Amino acid sequence: MGLALVHGRARAGIRAPAVKVEVHLAGGLPSMSIVGLPEAAVREAKDRVRAAIQCAQFEFPARRITVNLAPADLPKGGGRFDLPIALGILAASGQIPADALGDWEFLGELGLTGELRGTDGVLPAALAVAATGRRLLVPAANGAEAALASGVEVRTARTLLEVCALLGGQKALPLATAPEQRVPAGPDMREVRGQAQARRALEIAAAGGHHLLLVGPPGCGKTLLASRLPGLLPDASEAEALESAAVQSVSGRGLDPACWRTRPFRSPHHTASAIALVGGGSEPRPGEISLAHNGVLFLDELPEWDRRALEVLREPLESGVVTISRAARQSEFPARFQLVAAMNPCPCGWAGDASGRCRCTGDAITRYRARISGPLLDRIDLHVDVPRLPPAALRPDAPEGESSGHIRQRVIEARQRQLDRAGVTNAALDQAATARDCRLAPGDQALLERAIDALHLSARAMHRILRVARTIADLESHERIASLHLTEALGYRGFGRSG
Ligand SMILES: [Zn+2]
Repeated sequence: MGLALVHGRARAGIRAPAVKVEVHLAGGLPSMSIVGLPEAAVREAKDRVRAAIQCAQFEFPARRITVNLAPADLPKGGGRFDLPIALGILAASGQIPADALGDWEFLGELGLTGELRGTDGVLPAALAVAATGRRLLVPAANGAEAALASGVEVRTARTLLEVCALLGGQKALPLATAPEQRVPAGPDMREVRGQAQARRALEIAAAGGHHLLLVGPPGCGKTLLASRLPGLLPDASEAEALESAAVQSVSGRGLDPACWRTRPFRSPHHTASAIALVGGGSEPRPGEISLAHNGVLFLDELPEWDRRALEVLREPLESGVVTISRAARQSEFPARFQLVAAMNPCPCGWAGDASGRCRCTGDAITRYRARISGPLLDRIDLHVDVPRLPPAALRPDAPEGESSGHIRQRVIEARQRQLDRAGVTNAALDQAATARDCRLAPGDQALLERAIDALHLSARAMHRILRVARTIADLESHERIASLHLTEALGYRGFGRSG
């Protein structure tokens, strides 16, 4: 017997394609070659596997060892193939029973002493294995994450020796179990005082899944408002939550299995690179827009962002996915996030404030706002002014705002109407569905056309206005969009008119 086959998984975007690890032993001078892995990774895998096998008191065969990782054209980074390679060598040399391997898939990096180290992308692998009917063995550190996938038996091990004992039938290994879910108490709308218009816009954004731009002076509460959007959204479905968790799993930052159902809120700093924002790297990793998948992406100080980074946002804002091209290889990550952007009204931040302390010239203000491209602004459905509050509104005894729980109830009902009607949120309606579900009375149609003309808006913006009007009507359980709903929707496009 000089041949063994072990099942493993690669990482490609948030998928985990199957990889067959074939090990062949032949006579001749002792050597070990691995094909199908990048050069640098081969060297490291060889050293770790050899040391781990010897430390586990097995014999490293003095033969010509060929390891083939197939298919060859899949990306195979990291140490995730150490364990399958080691098991293949032990099975091909008759040190563990080869026929026990077929029911299992294996993931894990080996330390030099044979301990199993956690690896990334375990959840996507577990989801993929569930479809094959095989069982999965992962390092103990990854057990909780792997257990989030249902329909697959996952066992965990701490060392190579434990895995060999399992395959030899001498030892049972523990089942991986998912941790108890923690639901972190997020910030509440109760703490937001005043700001009626911004609160209303936030509710509409939550109800229809629309993107939102908050414009106001420093310290007026833009961040406060944005951070409360996730708390207004309905719970993510299991499929949505699993997809978001899979993105975190492959991000290299680790996934917290105890909070996987929580909708993400990401707020990268404006100095973040384009790669940090949209994803990339030699082994492509998801960026902030994908980490915000099914949640909220908050971009503060929008005009300070690198314009090239923002331009890349346009495509995912429409399609909900981002494709990263790296050499000959493409990786795709989901990026269906809700954008909340914030900016000052002018370079000093005080334009329009009652104090009159803004000294910016008209030119300076125009240049400042022009840093954000028209096509990006076009894709943000709701533009809303967030003024500085008068001191009286900030007194400790000023009335609290309505709680997130109350608002969320209205949001859930409005969303249900959308799902019953079209199967998706209003923000996700395509052009045909918009034409079908967002019909206006003739007088309102004329009003919309006049407004589009006066505001120099694109056809894309027009469709977005209709979808926002649809959401406003849904919040009031109106079958049809009425004039009031349309007028309110148009009001959220007023920004930019006065320059
Ligand atoms: Zn100013």
